[in-house]
Amino acid sequence: MVREPDAEALGWRQRARSLADEVIRPAAAAIDRDDRLPESLVDRLKSSGFFGLGIPPEWDGRDGSTAAISGVLEELAAASPAVAVLLSVHLSVCAHPILAHGTSEQKERLLRPLAAGRWLGAFALTESSAGSDAAHIGARYRRDGDSFVLNGAKMFITNGARADLVLGFATHDTNLGSHGISAFLIQKGTPGASSAQKLDKLGLRGSETNELVFQDAKVPSNNLLGAEGQGLRIALSALTAGRVGIASCALGVARAALETMQAGAAASPTDARRGDVARAFTTYRAASALVAEAAAAKDSGGPYEDVASAAKLFASEAAVSIASHAVDVWGPAGARAGAPAERILRDARVFPIVEGTTEIQELILGRALVGR
Ligand SMILES: Cc1cc2nc3c(=O)[nH]c(=O)nc-3n(C[C@H](O)[C@H](O)[C@H](O)COP(=O)(O)OP(=O)(O)OC[C@H]3O[C@@H](n4cnc5c(N)ncnc54)[C@H](O)[C@@H]3O)c2cc1C
Repeated sequence: MVREPDAEALGWRQRARSLADEVIRPAAAAIDRDDRLPESLVDRLKSSGFFGLGIPPEWDGRDGSTAAISGVLEELAAASPAVAVLLSVHLSVCAHPILAHGTSEQKERLLRPLAAGRWLGAFALTESSAGSDAAHIGARYRRDGDSFVLNGAKMFITNGARADLVLGFATHDTNLGSHGISAFLIQKGTPGASSAQKLDKLGLRGSETNELVFQDAKVPSNNLLGAEGQGLRIALSALTAGRVGIASCALGVARAALETMQAGAAASPTDARRGDVARAFTTYRAASALVAEAAAAKDSGGPYEDVASAAKLFASEAAVSIASHAVDVWGPAGARAGAPAERILRDARVFPIVEGTTEIQELILGRALVGR
């Protein structure tokens, strides 16, 4: 049973909708065309309080449930998913893991600036030959006195070049498998840590995706998150939370596609495509209910891995399906480069890949439902 969003969640959603209407939607086409988020827009996002969602005021956060975060992400993504994904990554897979696993000293030093909107966060697990198979990452670390020294490269890292703090993962010994992996908080300016190429993408343009390189990057030992060897556990729990965030972003894209489709059908001289609109509406509402269920399950404090995977799988496929039909409804006008339906379809197409592909969600759910 999905709870109605409370007044607090509705308030946050309304704030996100106002920001989306005022500054994000008018900039969405340029964000896609230039593959760049204007600095002023990121600053507005930072000063809006959204960077502190889900974090207690004790650490300069703004509180707020997962349901509230989900509503904010949907509203932002309906205007520009690049903006929403920047926030989702910052919160779900950088700031919140520090809240969950950090020491008081780390929260004081590293979480506070993230929550206050002074810093942007990123999460770096994927490598060119290890994404779905995260237990087999190749980035290495060794202890050196009171520091850890990291070597290796990370691929497809959202916010990678902009981030002030990266939650990154490396292994002490690849023979140890998942038990060799530790989590490190890598601050901007760390000697030996740099962003390399910016990756050009089909969709989600404006959301920067970078390669990160560590060459004898020296991370102080007080920037180890959790204990040595706990890295993969921290990464997987962050990704579970991240799936609710990414599902919420995909839901926003699905809604944008539905609205574009409605406009196309209304402009059409025939009634021929009304069935498409009816089906798209039904799919969007079903995705919305599933995402709300996942957010409520996370807020309840119980296990929520299965419903998070189901929400991520369904909402990202819903976005692709509705966006694809939106192009059909607009006909050739929808297929023109830069047309809203075309841009939304390219954005939607990326969601089944990020934070665990559709096949990985099927694996997670298959194991939970059927066993090994
Ligand atoms: C826009 C974007 C942003 C991203 N942001 C980040 C980020 O911020 N941080 C980060 O760490 N990563 C990030 N990623 C990486 C993303 O999480 C990975 O691309 C994704 O997990 C897939 O991993 P992979 O690239 O290694 O693909 P692979 O694992 O090589 O997958 C290739 C194909 O094989 C399938 N496959 C793989 N294993 C199995 C299996 N066991 N069973 C069935 N099918 C399988 C996959 O589903 C996929 O279709 C981002 C990716 C994109 C595209």
